[in-house]
Amino acid sequence: MVLRLMDNSLSFILRLWRVTQIFARKFRLRFNRSLTFGKAQEESPKSVVPLSVNYHFTRQCNYSCGFCFHTALTSFVLPIEKAKLGLKLLSDAGMIKVNFSGGEPFLHQRGIFLGELVKYCKEELYLDSVTVVTNGSRVTRKWFEDYGTYLDIMAVSCDSFDEEVNEKIGRHAKGKSHLDSLRRIRAWCREYQVLFKLNTVVNTYNVGENMCEQVQELQPCRWKVFQCLSIDEENQGQNALRQVEPFLITSDQFQSFLKRHESVSTLVPESNLAMRNSYFILDEFMRFLDNTSGCKKPSPSILDVGVKEALKFSGFDEQMFFKRGGKYNWSKSDANLEW
Ligand code: SF4
Repeated sequence: MVLRLMDNSLSFILRLWRVTQIFARKFRLRFNRSLTFGKAQEESPKSVVPLSVNYHFTRQCNYSCGFCFHTALTSFVLPIEKAKLGLKLLSDAGMIKVNFSGGEPFLHQRGIFLGELVKYCKEELYLDSVTVVTNGSRVTRKWFEDYGTYLDIMAVSCDSFDEEVNEKIGRHAKGKSHLDSLRRIRAWCREYQVLFKLNTVVNTYNVGENMCEQVQELQPCRWKVFQCLSIDEENQGQNALRQVEPFLITSDQFQSFLKRHESVSTLVPESNLAMRNSYFILDEFMRFLDNTSGCKKPSPSILDVGVKEALKFSGFDEQMFFKRGGKYNWSKSDANLEW
């Protein structure tokens, strides 16, 4: 009896100690981040803090969307310890949200590499928001079981609710239904309490479609609707792996698509202008990509020169970031949902 009491007390004290350590660490990290932010503002009121970063750790993909603007130019992926080091540097520089993207992020090591980074960002770096963009074809229930708790938002790309249109665009893998993958993930997001987001690229193949009903049915927390974008050396030009011309639409066509879907309250539109420079994009070598000239110019890697130096070459337009609603309710702990 006495022994059991001692055992219970000891495990209670250990648990309490661990929780205190976690809070202390979390507080320390947040405090350090706010110091970094304050210091950057003092040094130069125009200093940019990388609040939200998109890390495209792989360029490999099993889909072949004709307008893809982050193509398989290399097959390089950093070793996981280096990727974690880069993420830590970014967190120390003020990053509070990270989005993992590709290529297709679930391809490399069957999603384990991605899952471990997601876990690291939540458990070790205490980021407010950890999100993923995927085409959905390789996501499994097991992945949600192992890593869902650390993920705030999963965004799935879908351009049409007509399977044939997705196939024409290249938004599909042989022998698999893209729409089945989409609906499966929607259900898992609910089951494992991960916010679900939908991304759509408006192009010549889907510009006339009415998706209101299907989108309302899926109930995404955010439906991001992009105008198809051209980028030199990615989907335009002699050396590009894709040719975007047949997919491009005019601003008027984009506006009429938006008008048709104005009843969807979660729709967030993004024109070419808003898209170009309002993202921090980090490539597979952890270099910021500057898109101001219409092609992606890489900075030196943050692993070689540090975040502050690399940021000078990012071409980031902070005003546009806030104008397009880049800072939103991005943490599932703030979502206050009944799952
Ligand atoms: S799903 Fe399509 S757009 Fe996304 S990375 Fe793959 S090929 Fe590119």
